[in-house]
Amino acid sequence: MTLLPGSTIGVLGSGQLGRMLALAARRMDYRVHVFSPQRDSPTGQVADREFAAAYDDLDAVRRFAESVDVVTYEFENVPSQTAETCAAVVPVHPNERALHIAQNRLREKEFFVQNDLPVTPFAVVDSLEALAAGLAQTGYPAVIKTAESGYDGKGQFKITLEEEIETAWEAAGCREAILEGFVPYDRELSVIAARSVDGQFAHFGVIENHHRRHILDISIAPAPVRAEIAEQAVKMSRRLLEALDVAGVICVEFFLTGDERLLVNEFAPRPHNSGHLTIEAAVTSQFEQQLRAVCGLPLGDTAYLCPAAMVNLLGDLWQDGEPDWEALAHYPAVKLHLYGKHEPRPGRKMGHLTALASTASEAVNKVISARRSLGGE
Ligand code: AMP
Repeated sequence: MTLLPGSTIGVLGSGQLGRMLALAARRMDYRVHVFSPQRDSPTGQVADREFAAAYDDLDAVRRFAESVDVVTYEFENVPSQTAETCAAVVPVHPNERALHIAQNRLREKEFFVQNDLPVTPFAVVDSLEALAAGLAQTGYPAVIKTAESGYDGKGQFKITLEEEIETAWEAAGCREAILEGFVPYDRELSVIAARSVDGQFAHFGVIENHHRRHILDISIAPAPVRAEIAEQAVKMSRRLLEALDVAGVICVEFFLTGDERLLVNEFAPRPHNSGHLTIEAAVTSQFEQQLRAVCGLPLGDTAYLCPAAMVNLLGDLWQDGEPDWEALAHYPAVKLHLYGKHEPRPGRKMGHLTALASTASEAVNKVISARRSLGGE
């Protein structure tokens, strides 16, 4: 089934990823209905219809599904019952299996292993005793991560000393978790890739990512890695998308170690913060690509027009009041994106900036300097 302009896309979740998908969709005259518990949400503000109800209100979910031609999601903690309810009415892309695997770090890690994707050394932990046994396996330092509902470093704790075991177990909520050996990586990389309903594959190459306080801070494309490394990362991403048998956009995150080994850290079955720079820098953005993939269209050209860098604007920037937008206006090649969030909390993603330049390092300098002009650093 091919969905052409005029069709209605249903989006589960209503944050900035849904907003940018909706903007791409509306440009081509697709209609967008969004479902989430929030009203006046980042996606709802630019959608045609906002369904505000709890994810477990399955009658409301059914009404939403009946109002659209296809359902996709913009965050992976949508309860599986919600996705299943939609799938009984219309196609859901990426498929529910991808969603189910991405929702749990243990399932995700096991899926990587089954598909010969290299991962960090890990142990499954479901008690304080299992944590101690796991640490004997991974050694120190190690990171404990809750199996479910963690993002941006939430539910994670780095264990450096034996004395920290109990604190770590409590920090992970005393429930099923994964323990990973801490990898002294050189770089963090991501590959954003897409697969169409009929199995066509496309990717945006390798993007380099820098985090601050566990939250993505800067993304740079193209990543400064050797061509063979980039090729390997793309090949692994393709293997993952094919094993998941999905249609949609997926982000695969990697660690690159000092001895040039790639380890798969995690994947997200949706567009990703590190791909926001594709809006200005690539022929097709990751959001248009998601739209094309879920609508059963051929994928768009992923070529870059030029190197680019993106920085996030977190709520911290608002701590002394509104950022200095007028100062930012003096950067003619820097693009401002704001997500329509009313409450600028510390660590909350409020928007981002993208700079284009003739080299990646020039783009980084430009975008950092632009962010500095906003104050708050
Ligand atoms: P995650 O939620 O798994 O993406 O982890 C968030 C961030 O914590 C990553 O982007 C890394 O910067 C860091 N991190 C997570 N796991 C590890 C690990 N095993 N070794 C080193 N750093 C890690």
